[in-house]
Amino acid sequence: MSTEEKAHLAAFAFPFGSHPTALFHLVQRLAAACPQVHFSYFNIESSNKKVLSRLDTTHSNIKIYHVDDGVPEGHVSSGNPMEFIEFFIKATPANFSKRLEQVEKEMGTKATCLLSDAFLWFSGDMAQERGIPWLAYWAAGPSSISLHLYIHGIRAKLGNDDGQIQNLDQTLDFIPGMSAIRASDLPVEILQINGLFSHMLYNMSDTINRAYVVLNSFDGVDSVVECDLKSKLKRLLNIGPFPLPKALKCTEDQSGCLSWLSHQDAASVAYISFGTILTPPQPELVALAEALEEKQVPYLWSFADNSKRILIQGFFERTGRIGKLVEWAPQTEVLSHPSVGVFVTHCGWNSTLESILGGVPMICMPFFADQMINRRLMENVWRIGVGVQGDFSKSGMVEALDLVLWKDEGNKMRENIGRLKERAYMAVAEKGSSTEDFKSLTTKAKDI
Ligand code: UDP
Repeated sequence: MSTEEKAHLAAFAFPFGSHPTALFHLVQRLAAACPQVHFSYFNIESSNKKVLSRLDTTHSNIKIYHVDDGVPEGHVSSGNPMEFIEFFIKATPANFSKRLEQVEKEMGTKATCLLSDAFLWFSGDMAQERGIPWLAYWAAGPSSISLHLYIHGIRAKLGNDDGQIQNLDQTLDFIPGMSAIRASDLPVEILQINGLFSHMLYNMSDTINRAYVVLNSFDGVDSVVECDLKSKLKRLLNIGPFPLPKALKCTEDQSGCLSWLSHQDAASVAYISFGTILTPPQPELVALAEALEEKQVPYLWSFADNSKRILIQGFFERTGRIGKLVEWAPQTEVLSHPSVGVFVTHCGWNSTLESILGGVPMICMPFFADQMINRRLMENVWRIGVGVQGDFSKSGMVEALDLVLWKDEGNKMRENIGRLKERAYMAVAEKGSSTEDFKSLTTKAKDI
C-alpha cells in the first residue's frame, strides 16, 4: 500500500552549468504536485547560492542541503573551469552519501526515492543498496542520451585506438534516428575516455538503463529516437517542456527586458545568449557584433561575464540606441515575446526548448557537448534554425540574420517551429503525453 505520509525524495544535483537549476525546477514541480512528500535537494554550496538567487523557493516541503565540493582548502584557481568539476567528481559519491545519512538521522526518515542528475551514475548503486527507485534526470534531449547508449558501437565504428575520428563527415546512420548527425557533431566525451568527466559519462552509459529516465522533452520531438530509447531503457518519461513562460509582473522584470521589448516592432529583435557556461571566443563575438551593427538589427544581449565584454570593445556603447545589454534575462519569457524575431544561440537543450515554446527560429552557434547535435536537428531535421557559414564569419552572420529575419526561408522556419510549439503545448495540456508521464513520475515520488 502506498501512503504519502513518510515519502522522502532525495535529489542529487550535478552542480555546473544549467544542470542544478533544471533539476531544482523539477523538484519544485514535484513538490507542488506532491505536497505530502518531503523533498531534500543536495548540491554544493556555491551552486546552491546561484540557483537560489534566481528562483523562488517558497515550497515548504523542499529543504536544501550543501554537500562537499571537494575543493582543497586554500586552493588557488588556475582559471580552468574543468578543475572544479574534477574536484567535485573526486568528492563523489562520499559527499552525497554522507550528507544524506546525516539528513536522514536529523529527519528520522529514510529516503524512499532517489532522483539524481543522470551524470551521477553512482546514485543507481545507492538506490539499489537501499532498495528504492532511481529516477535519473537527463538535462538534455533524447538524441544526446541515445548517443551515450551507443557509445561502444560508435567508438568501434568511428574511432581509432586513440579515440580520434577517422572520417568527420561520416553520418551516424547505423543508429536509429541519427542519419542527420555527423561524426564531427559528437561531443568529445563520446569518443575518448580521457579524464574524470568523460569517465563519469562512460559509467553513466553503462548504468542508465537501470533507471527511470526523466527527460525535459515531449513525445514526437524525435519519434524514431524516442521509440528506440523506450526499447532500451527501463522506462522513459518525457515530461516537458517545462517551465512554461509565465506572465511576469512589472516588479519581476528587474532587468527591464520585457518592457524594452514592448517598445520594439513585432519579430524584429535578435535575442542573444550563450547559456550559463560559455562565452564564445573573440573572433565569433566580433563577427556577430559587426553583423548586428551593419544591419542595424535591434538586439537584446544577455552577456553575464562582465570581464569579457571588452572582447567587443566599443560595440555596446556605439549601439546603445538599437540594443539592450543585460547580465541575465528572463529567457523563457523573452523568447515568448512577440518582438523577438530570432534567437542567436549556442544550442543548449533548455534554450532550444524555450525557443520552441516561443516559436522563434534560431541562428546556431554551437561549441561543445550536445550543442552540435542540437544544431544539426534544428537545421536538417526540424528546419527551425540555420548555422553560420564560414566558421562564424561576419558575412556568414549577416547572411543568417538576413535569412531568418527578412527572407521567405525565415517565414518557413517560423511555420515549422510553430508546428513544434503546438505539439509541445499539446503535450503539456490536460491529458497530454507529458502530463501523463509527469503523473507516473509523481506516483514514483509518492510511493514508499
Ligand atoms: N538563461 C536565462 N537567462 C539568461 C541566460 C540563460 O534564464 O540570461 C537560462 C535559459 O533560460 C536556459 C539556461 O539558462 O534555461 C541555459 O540552459 P541551456 O541548456 O540552454 O545551456 P547551458 O547553460 O546548459 O549551456
